[in-house]
Amino acid sequence: MSDASRDAERSSDTVFGAIVRGEIPADIVYEDERCLAFRDLNPQAPTHVLVIPRAGISGLQEADQADPSLLGHLMQAAQIVARQEGLEDDGWRVVVNVGEDAGQTVAHLHLHVLGGRKLSWPPG
Ligand code: AMP
Repeated sequence: MSDASRDAERSSDTVFGAIVRGEIPADIVYEDERCLAFRDLNPQAPTHVLVIPRAGISGLQEADQADPSLLGHLMQAAQIVARQEGLEDDGWRVVVNVGEDAGQTVAHLHLHVLGGRKLSWPPG
């Protein structure tokens, strides 16, 4: 088995893989052929949406094995979500946690889209 297919298998085993397959519910706010976006169960801001690829990729630690156009697509989906959520005027933030020190808990790439309040910098 190739590294890429092993990663796909590993990330499809996560809770986000189950959401992609429709096996567990999620509050989906946007979807297209390559990604979906749904509200975080434990929101850290008035708007807290996760954008994930349908394809299994465990995180940005595997970015060099991913289709670059997919990574760009996820960024554009984040903008669509921010616009839908009415965040364009006041601003919003995209966060990608990578690995243990950053607090990544789900091994399926996800972009956090956060907004609706003043966001402090630097993040904790
Ligand atoms: P991270 O810590 O960057 O890996 O982010 C994982 C995020 O997934 C956390 O903010 C969790 O609250 C969120 N989360 C975990 N399970 C679910 C779920 N079933 N539906 C929505 N969000 C979830």
